[in-house]
This record gives sequence, structure tokens and C-alpha cells, in this order.
Amino acid sequence: MNTIEDIRARVPALAQTVYGKPLVYLDNAATAQKPVEVIELLNRMNSGINANVHRAMYKLSDEATNLYEGARERVREFINAPARENIIFTSGATAAINLVAQSFCTRYLKSGDSVVVTEDSHHSNIVPWQLACERAGAQLKVLHVDDNGEWRMEELDTLLDERVKIVAAAHISNVLGIINPIEELISKAHALGIPVLIDGAQGIVHSKVDVTALDCDFYAFSAHKVYGETGSGILYGKEALLDAMPPYMGGGDMVGTVTFEKTTYAPLPLKFEAGTPNFIGSAALKPALDFAYEIHNGELGKVVEESEREIVAFMKSALQEMDGAVLYGNVENKIPLFSFNVEGCHPGDIAQILDKMGIAVRTGLMCAEPLMSRFGVTSMVRASFAPYNTLDEAKYFISSLKRVVGMLR
Ligand code: PMP
Repeated sequence: MNTIEDIRARVPALAQTVYGKPLVYLDNAATAQKPVEVIELLNRMNSGINANVHRAMYKLSDEATNLYEGARERVREFINAPARENIIFTSGATAAINLVAQSFCTRYLKSGDSVVVTEDSHHSNIVPWQLACERAGAQLKVLHVDDNGEWRMEELDTLLDERVKIVAAAHISNVLGIINPIEELISKAHALGIPVLIDGAQGIVHSKVDVTALDCDFYAFSAHKVYGETGSGILYGKEALLDAMPPYMGGGDMVGTVTFEKTTYAPLPLKFEAGTPNFIGSAALKPALDFAYEIHNGELGKVVEESEREIVAFMKSALQEMDGAVLYGNVENKIPLFSFNVEGCHPGDIAQILDKMGIAVRTGLMCAEPLMSRFGVTSMVRASFAPYNTLDEAKYFISSLKRVVGMLR
């Protein structure tokens, strides 16, 4: 049970063919495939434990509530948060960031203040802050990247001042795959008393996240990128901040008492979980994170680490050697995610032909238009690997890409 093939055997979607070819799924940064344990829990709940959580005094509702709250505890443990109060279920990373941009900024962001975001951010870590700044009459400021895609840390000294109310940064960019120096960013911001939100949509998948050691103020991620269900995600927040923030949405489950004159709110974490949550999708985070833990730890963890090292080395040198190819974010500290362009070939054409060869990759702006503009392009091809992808798949990808480039030129 300690090979990449053993992991693959637990992920049924990988066994399918497309256009008669074995599927080579290299769009994991968009959505990862699910292991059987996740699928089984989703099926078990959909077919037998489909009852609303926190509300009723009967067995099915109790079971659903226990699974939902059990997943919250698993998340808490997985990211080493102090308490369940820190863990808010949301519909995904986007919703988690919007929650903070709305609620935190309503309380703390005023006219003349500013918010700092990183240039390598996904649109979900740009637009919510832009909206908050527009509402408050505040300014959005940017920490830029250099030609390699790495943060220009020297800019921080001029960017950070007492008007900055929050810094929102990508842990790992979904385009560049660079593991950013978030520890340094957090300590520089904290030196001025500025809280930091980390967009961990990619970070949670590829790096061991310990929110207590990191000392970040917020950490956001989606379940579906870490082998879980779509429409579920997490906002981790420090309790004092979450307590001080006003509710984001009003509705059932987030209240203490309600009268037409005045409403009091439920304690954390429910204060931020208005309405019936995606309790089935969220409960599935437990088996999803169990799977993520298993493949990154122990003997299997070593096998995965070695396989990823081989894939990164192979992919980097193959793309570097390819005539006319440009690999973006080509640095040492990188996850197995490769965004590139090949001179004379449109990324969309490359992806369409690769698809006919059974290979699923992403192209386009990848929800990071400012970063695309930074590199002077309107599109890239992205191949993003998960631990269940093999070196043989990487080799098939490169040989197929060479064929495609030959056809297009
Ligand atoms: N941030 C990053 C870095 C991402 O990669 C993504 C998804 N591509 C998101 C945020 C948004 O995630 P979701 O669409 O699941 O809310």
C-alpha cells in the first residue's frame, strides 16, 4: 500500500478513458479527484443521513450533526487551530475571503485606509478587497512580483504603514506554483499590528499548514482542491478578530434570540454560518483530509515526496529544453504546477489537441488577469499534478506536447 499506483487505485475517476485514451488528469489545481472514502461518505449521507444539522432531536439529524462537527474537528486538527470556534464552514475559498472582506472591512476599513494584496493573487483574492475599498473609500495597494514570479519583499517597507488595515496574500499562486515566503510577510505586517489573510486554496494541498505556528490571522481554502466536495470550504480566523467582526449573512442558525427590535448572535463558529450549510459536502472534509494526511506522511509520504521531486525535475528540464517554450515561475521552491507558453502556438489550441490525446490541462487567464498582464500574455497552458500522478504521465504529457507543437507550427 505504499506506491503511487496504490493511491491511484483509491481514486476511481483516474481509471477512465477519454476519446479511447487513458485519462491523464493534470488540472488538479482547479479541482482534485476524490478517493473512495470521500465518495462513500457522500453516498452514505445522501442516501441515509440526509437530515438538517443542529436543529432536530432525532437520530438522523444527530448523526448528520456529528459528521458535520466531526469534520470541523478534523479541520481544526489538520491546520493546528486552537479551537472549533476558529473554524468556519463556507462554500469555498472565494466565500471565505468575501466573508472577511465584507465583515472585517465593515468594522475596520475606513476612508483613506488601504488594503495590500499580492500581484500573484487569484481574482478571488483581488475583487472582494476591491469591492471593500470602493465601499469604504479606501485604496488597494499591490505587492508586486519580479520576473521570476517571486514577491518583491523589498517593496513591503514602503507599502506597509499605519493606514494599511489588512494584507491578503496567496500562499501558493495557482499560476506560478511558487511557495511564497508567507512567514516573513506575516511577521513584517504584525510588526506594524496589521492582520494578514492567507489565501490557502493551493497552499493547503501542497504544504503542511500550521496556522498557530504561522500566526496568520485568517486562512482560507476550498474542499474540492484537497480531495473533498465542491461547494464547501473553510475560513480559519483568530477568535478575537472573529468575535469583533459583525455577522456576514443573517439567517437561521447564526442567532441567539430574535425580536423585531433586536437580534443577538450565536457564538462562534455559528455566527458566520447562516442558513442550512452544505453539511454533506462539509462532512466529507474529514475523509478528504484523512486521505491528504495519509499520502503526505509516513512511508507513503516519502514515496509521494520522491515522486513529486522527480516530476518537478523532469518537467522543468523538459520545458526548458523545448524550443520556444517559456515556463513561468521557474524557481526552486515550487509545487508540481507548470504554467507555460510555446512560441507560435496558441495555448487554447494546445489544450484542445492535448484533450484528444486524453490529457486534461487548463488554459486561459486562470482567474489571475493582473498576473497574466505582468508577464505580458493573455493566456498560458497549465499542467498541475497531484500525488496520484506519475512520472510516466509527465513523460506522456511532454511527448504529446511535442507532437502538438509539431502540428501547430
Ligand atoms: N485562490 C486560489 C489560489 C485558487 O487557486 C482558487 C481556485 N482556483 C481560488 C482562490 C478560488 O477557489 P474556489 O473557486 O474554490 O472558491
